[in-house]
Amino acid sequence: MSATAGQVIKCKAAVAWEAGKPLVIEEVEVAPPQKMEVRIKILYTSLCHTDVYFWEAKAQDSVFPRILGHEAAGIVESVGEGVTEVAAGDHVLPVFTGECGECAHCKSTESNMCSLLRINTERGVMIGDQKSRFSINGKPIYHFLGTSTFSEYTVLHVGCVAKINPLAPLDKVCVLSCGISAGLGATLNVAKPFKGSSVAVFGLGAVGLGAAEGARLAGASRVIGVDLNTARFEEAKKFGVTEFVNPKDYSKPVQEVIAEMTDGGVDRSVECTGNINAMISAFECVHDGWGVAVLVGVPHKDAVFKTHPVNFLNERTLKGTFFGNYKPRSGLPSVVEMYMNKELEVEKFITHTVPFAEINKAFELMLKGEGLRCVIRME
Ligand code: NAD
Ligand code: ZN
Ligand code: ZN
Repeated sequence: MSATAGQVIKCKAAVAWEAGKPLVIEEVEVAPPQKMEVRIKILYTSLCHTDVYFWEAKAQDSVFPRILGHEAAGIVESVGEGVTEVAAGDHVLPVFTGECGECAHCKSTESNMCSLLRINTERGVMIGDQKSRFSINGKPIYHFLGTSTFSEYTVLHVGCVAKINPLAPLDKVCVLSCGISAGLGATLNVAKPFKGSSVAVFGLGAVGLGAAEGARLAGASRVIGVDLNTARFEEAKKFGVTEFVNPKDYSKPVQEVIAEMTDGGVDRSVECTGNINAMISAFECVHDGWGVAVLVGVPHKDAVFKTHPVNFLNERTLKGTFFGNYKPRSGLPSVVEMYMNKELEVEKFITHTVPFAEINKAFELMLKGEGLRCVIRME
């Protein structure tokens, strides 16, 4: 058992005090884990676009002050009452959606939408007692996505903690705890392209390129990357993207451009932008008769998806997914093994690394559309 078990830990955390204002590194108090909770020492965390949306709070409702962050890797420091799945010293990935193991979703082979622990962007407290485990001078600082990884120590429900191979390098596999697995799984588990098929990927950030990796692994013969940022195209070549379309280069809708390129439409498409127009294009660009489109991007809170119903009658399918349909505890460790077995390359997604003190640089890079994942070193 660790020396700090059962004690309040004082440590550094990057606090978002207000929407859109730089994070401030503060000393926070982290309460011990309660029943079915785990306290983790975060070693590496990376920035996903979802953190940026809830920090900007323009297109999303958020609560402040808050500790953001959900893509990370760490080591269990201590566990609360009733926790048997993990113990101090285990290497783990925190996940924004959980797996209680008991509910109808957890028992279903088709769903990862756990009734108890599914994604909740508004909740800023632990589900056990509706309180925050973080405070400064006795005042609560709120949680984000049940993970709050922009802190040296954080507390999660055990159902949101995936125990992984202790040999996996945490500075690399931290990026598998959200974006890349979400994109990869959206292709492999949801779109399920067949060998030789054509796949369009909208948005060539880390999530989209994770989806492109899925297309490569499934044996797709054409992977068409769609992005408004032409700078993305060079990088995407390393991910098996074979053709590129920038919607800005055409006067007609991108779905028409893609239909012309592919004799009627792609077999599969995966949307990883969060933009409602890209979502509609991603659906309308799949081939009638068999095409399947999968939405992954997190939409604006007021977004409405509009398409003509005949697009469905013509036998196109539209799906959506969180975390690529992986169940975090039972499915994510297998993605880590794909990396360990060299089937999946993770290094190429990590384009920047910064020390914790410079965490705001990671936000600047993402806002400028530079690089893919920026890993933040806690030590
Ligand atoms: P990112 O910012 O690194 O990449 C997004 C890319 O989309 C950028 O290259 C941008 O230029 C491009 N883009 C934006 N609007 C576009 C449009 N209209 N047409 C074409 N390209 C466009 O972000 P990311 O971290 O890769 O995340 C991508 C999306 O996935 C975000 O919406 C994020 O919130 C979401 N996300 C969802 C899940 C999930 O489980 N469903 C998990 C992680 C992230
Ligand atoms: Zn994410
Ligand atoms: Zn469940």
